[in-house]
Amino acid sequence: MEVAAKGSENINQPEKSKRKWVYAKKPAGKLYNYRQVVGYSLLLFLFVAPFVKINDNPFLMFNIIERKFSIFGNIFLPQDMHIFLFGMLIIMVCIVLFTAVYGRVWCGWTCPQTIFMELIFRRIEYLIEGDWNKQKKLNEGPDTDAKAWRKILKHAVFILISFLISNLFLAYIIGVDALLKIITEPVDQHLGGFASIWAFTFVFYFVFAYVREIVCTRICPYGRLQGVLLDENSVTVAYHVSRGEPRGKIRKNSDEFRGDCIDCNLCVHVCPTGIDIRKGTQLECVSCTACIDACDAVMDKINKPKRLIGFYTQAEAEGKETVVEGKKRNTRAIVYSCILLVLMGIFGAMIFSRTDVDGRLLRAKGSTYQFRDDGTVTNLYSLELINKTTKDIDYVLESDDKNIQIQIVNPISHLPREGNAKLSLFLIAKKSSIKEYKSNIKLNVVAEGKVIETMKTTFIAPPSK
Ligand code: SF4
Ligand code: SF4
Repeated sequence: MEVAAKGSENINQPEKSKRKWVYAKKPAGKLYNYRQVVGYSLLLFLFVAPFVKINDNPFLMFNIIERKFSIFGNIFLPQDMHIFLFGMLIIMVCIVLFTAVYGRVWCGWTCPQTIFMELIFRRIEYLIEGDWNKQKKLNEGPDTDAKAWRKILKHAVFILISFLISNLFLAYIIGVDALLKIITEPVDQHLGGFASIWAFTFVFYFVFAYVREIVCTRICPYGRLQGVLLDENSVTVAYHVSRGEPRGKIRKNSDEFRGDCIDCNLCVHVCPTGIDIRKGTQLECVSCTACIDACDAVMDKINKPKRLIGFYTQAEAEGKETVVEGKKRNTRAIVYSCILLVLMGIFGAMIFSRTDVDGRLLRAKGSTYQFRDDGTVTNLYSLELINKTTKDIDYVLESDDKNIQIQIVNPISHLPREGNAKLSLFLIAKKSSIKEYKSNIKLNVVAEGKVIETMKTTFIAPPSK
């Protein structure tokens, strides 16, 4: 997708340095205010979620080492991998649909990388070194004591915050309890954990102090996929070419026709990825909307309508979208949004309908019915119960058919936390009660008076005459 406009320089980047360091002007405006509300709320959630417990389980935990996940306090063990993989698939479909309709809004508004970078690290930089032009002057100026102190202070704060993020990251991976042990117990008992905290601290510090926007523009696979995820109907942050061009400085007493863009370059100065959105939609744009705010402020000053830069499709930005095309696009957005809601609903239902105990009831291999002398007939089964919770469970087995009795060969009534139990059992029925050759049977696992798992099987015996 390319919305071309007359080229302009990325003037907030020094020309000679190997890497073009981006000095982004401090953003301000309505959208930035909304972004702050969204971003700081997400940060609060991010910092609180691993510490909140539901049923003694973390609200969120992604322990990839032990393949144990906790989502909304529901523990997912390797046995639940199918739910987890299906969930991942749903999330991927959601990302594709969402991006096709709304562009890269996730990146600019909710991605942790952007939130940490723009709402924490860059704000600290503004506080210590000033706005973009002061930072540039400081970096390009002579080495003085004042400069050294500012740099030391900034990087010390960066390392401190990176240390906090590293702890937070580990809290999500190994859980808060394991993290607290690493922090509170002697270092020699947790050398691996201690080394991990510092390794991640320096990774985060390096990312936020030096790598920065390169994560979004070159490293992130989602960013690289934009080319295939976006199409001409996707709404992205775009410059309204037909309204803005031909751009040019305001000249008094000039009859020459000019577009609304006064070529002030403020949209370029505020861009955290250092691009000029007037050159057309680019992979580097993370849809942070800082340029929309900047341009809106300019339009206000020169008494022109806002949204010279805004959320537009390619046709809209070029002033070519017809009413029919607009309606089609809106219909597509509504349909995709509905699909998104349905998929998220399915994922939510899968998570909340998941049982604490998994049971696998199978007829014993090669067995058939057997008659007993007391006038009953039996079928032999093997049963495996898996406890997916972090609590021990005492249970009993019950049949929902009063004519069926259960005889457990190796009675086990205790399921250890995250453990399993393997049983052999007979289902027993009176010969006189058998109505058909194959009857459907349900067995319930009952704990604390509640049915926590139901298993289905069949009972085979010749019907009584
Ligand atoms: S902020 Fe608006 S007016 Fe200024 S250069 Fe950018 S598009 Fe043109
Ligand atoms: S072009 Fe605008 S929306 Fe895109 S990254 Fe730059 S400032 Fe953000």
